[in-house]
Amino acid sequence: MTDYNNILSQLEQSGNLRQLRNTRSEGKYIYHEGKRYLNLSSNDYLGVACDGELQREFLAALADATEFLFGSTSSRLLTGNAPSYTELEQKLANLFGREAALVFNSGYHANIGVLPALTAKGDLILADKLVHASIIDGLRLCEAKWERYRHNDLEHLERLIIKNRDDYNRIIIVTESVFSMDGDIADLSALCDLKEKYGATLYVDEAHSFGAVGQHGLGLCEETNTTQRIDLIVGTFGKAIASQGAYLIANREVVSYLINTMRPLIFTTALPPVNLHWTSFVIDALAEMENDRVKLVALGNLLRSELERVGVETRGCSHIVPVVAGENQEAIRLAELMQQNGFWALPIRYPTVPKGEARIRISLNPQITEDEVAEIVKVAEQWKQNG
Ligand code: PMP
Repeated sequence: MTDYNNILSQLEQSGNLRQLRNTRSEGKYIYHEGKRYLNLSSNDYLGVACDGELQREFLAALADATEFLFGSTSSRLLTGNAPSYTELEQKLANLFGREAALVFNSGYHANIGVLPALTAKGDLILADKLVHASIIDGLRLCEAKWERYRHNDLEHLERLIIKNRDDYNRIIIVTESVFSMDGDIADLSALCDLKEKYGATLYVDEAHSFGAVGQHGLGLCEETNTTQRIDLIVGTFGKAIASQGAYLIANREVVSYLINTMRPLIFTTALPPVNLHWTSFVIDALAEMENDRVKLVALGNLLRSELERVGVETRGCSHIVPVVAGENQEAIRLAELMQQNGFWALPIRYPTVPKGEARIRISLNPQITEDEVAEIVKVAEQWKQNG
């Protein structure tokens, strides 16, 4: 039998032991063991979860609801398909100007469900090297063959397409739009050109951009004007929308096919209506949050340029700002120093990121001030000088 204790102590020695911590969020702060920290680790990119006023407004609007709100007690295919599902899906399809949308319980469900349902033996999936673990888990469930192309390297991708296209029925390209751990972005226009040139299908995960990027917050596809060109757009409500669930934007045929075949849609209890209502409510507010998105871009640029000014390595070009520390112990030292100074920015280690590239990942939101950015930079500088 596996010696769990032995494995756990090895993980602890190498600085890789994962532990659950008790935390409580309030506004932009997080409380842990009685101490208050500025929360730099949540994905609340628009500060929606910090906005008590918005939540109170929502609860007041729901006060007279007669439907049961907190559970759905069966799968969508049985009795769980509340009217709020249809409303939300219609709203999403209209916003994106596309035929159809389908809502799932989480981005994880979307990523482990859509590709295994839509692809078959004889297909080839080419995925960016840095796609999220949920996509990798989905690929493992596919009968199609899959391979990775070098991160954001479209020449490599094109070479793989040319090499393989005669041997497969269909090629599916898979990428994130804003990458979760590096905060950089995919070139969606060039990916669309490529997929059109070779008759491939394109799947884009907008988990970190939905709400936070684009004039109306629809994601990088909106910003790059590729919403009509991407076959399958996936995003989550768990980050900038501060809710739970995920969506797929696609054509009607694909959505009908998934309702018939996608196991994480069919074999799970539907989302509680309260979440669907909240998601719709926040999506209605998205168009008005343009100033927040503008501020988010400015904060990201400021933090990256200030970190570079003091000689601290960073990456990307978005509201996700990684500080790459190297070995696990260095990332832990930086995270501890951040914590001592009132900042909650947890270390991200192998296998979440490649070996030797452990980091802290700072996710910004518009409630963070320029003074706080200056304080963060000071701590990073101190870490660098004492290394
Ligand atoms: N895709 C990406 C790129 C993600 O980073 C995540 C979550 N970290 C997910 C999907 C999963 O989404 P959810 O949290 O809604 O399951």
